Amino acid sequence: MAAIKELHCPVCGRSYQPHEVQYTCPVCGSVGTLQVLFDYDSLRLQLDRDGLRTGEQSIWRYKALLPLAADAKVPPLRVGMTPLYDATRMAESLGLRQVWLKDDGQNPTGSFKDRASAMVVSKAMEQGIQTVSTASTGNAAAALAGIGASVGLNIIIFVPATAPEAKIAQLLVYGATVLLVEDTYDVAFELCYQMCLSEGWYCRNTAMNPYTTEGKKTVSYEIAEQLNWQVPDVVMVGVGDGNIIAGIHKGFYDLHQLGWIERIPRLIGVQAEGSSALVHAWQHGLKPEDMIPMPADTIADSISAGVPRDRAKALKAVRETNGAFIAVSDAEILEAIPAVARQSGVFVEPSCAAVYAGARRAAQTQLVQRDESVLLVMTGNGLKDIKRAQQSVSQGLRVQPTIQSIRQALGMGQE
Ligand SMILES: *Cc1c(COP(=O)(O)O)cnc(C)c1O
Ligand SMILES: [Zn+2]
Repeated sequence: MAAIKELHCPVCGRSYQPHEVQYTCPVCGSVGTLQVLFDYDSLRLQLDRDGLRTGEQSIWRYKALLPLAADAKVPPLRVGMTPLYDATRMAESLGLRQVWLKDDGQNPTGSFKDRASAMVVSKAMEQGIQTVSTASTGNAAAALAGIGASVGLNIIIFVPATAPEAKIAQLLVYGATVLLVEDTYDVAFELCYQMCLSEGWYCRNTAMNPYTTEGKKTVSYEIAEQLNWQVPDVVMVGVGDGNIIAGIHKGFYDLHQLGWIERIPRLIGVQAEGSSALVHAWQHGLKPEDMIPMPADTIADSISAGVPRDRAKALKAVRETNGAFIAVSDAEILEAIPAVARQSGVFVEPSCAAVYAGARRAAQTQLVQRDESVLLVMTGNGLKDIKRAQQSVSQGLRVQPTIQSIRQALGMGQE
């Protein structure tokens, strides 16, 4: 339970109290996605990092640093405390001293988005709101549908009618109401927001709701704790709307303010070449409010975004940590799916394969130095996108049901 000091707009610098504004900055509009800030001086006196060893094996072990009431109810599904692996063979292959993987595909609905949805569902319960809604075609909707189902909330999802059927199936299985909007994602997003305002539903839309990043920041707490408070030199993650990288930054920022870690890692956001609005903005020094829509076309659907909705906080995260935004091609992403799996045993969806491809690129261009330690955040389970996984590998070996045929297929000599 951390009392919110203010909700801060990264674009205009204005601050608000939580009861004054529910979603984005009223002056800046949708670009002004708000940051939750605490009174760090008083938190520093109340808390110490060893006090976190509560035995609670989920994001709720960090309740003392989350913007929830002390007696807040939280959903029962185990979100967070995902494994952190020392990927030695991957490090060797990339030519880096140390590579860790944080496997967030092991969350209940299969992606990192569960961290945000668990937080937003708790905020809804705190306010006594029965209906939570979001527009999304992918993992955010699945996360809200699943976490919502765990506490019996009414979940309404807006998706463009063209969304992949497999992704819609997961929502329907969880019992969400799915509205197939006969228009684009942007239109679905706006309709969702309008309905939330007029009906009093709680809106989880990415980057509109200030508490999504508060859920997502818990990954950084876990990374710090799992590495005994010695944070990596570099953290890399796939970026679409920029809400995850903003959350990662917020987590390290909190810990640094508290004096629990010595420095904040450099954050490197990886985009797909076909959807690289933040790479472009970063390279050209654009302000978030001056960014215009760019094409968004990539096989990595979780990181496809023409106007990244959390662009202000994402640019800040990279600029303040002396990080970078880089882009990789769809061909590199596809190749990286089996590379990650074979070098580490972790099966990931394309948005995470992009991170591996980005790490390779960063090592080659010396954006990351050989002797630096690097953590790759693997945000989504490979089972989320079987179609791309199939495309990334050749077929099995077809054999006759005879020993001879098997030996032949395996390239072994005659017996
Ligand atoms: C949503 C998502 C991302 C990108 O997060 P943004 O906040 O949109 O930048 C990356 N990977 C996975 C698996 C996701 O679901
Ligand atoms: Zn503002």
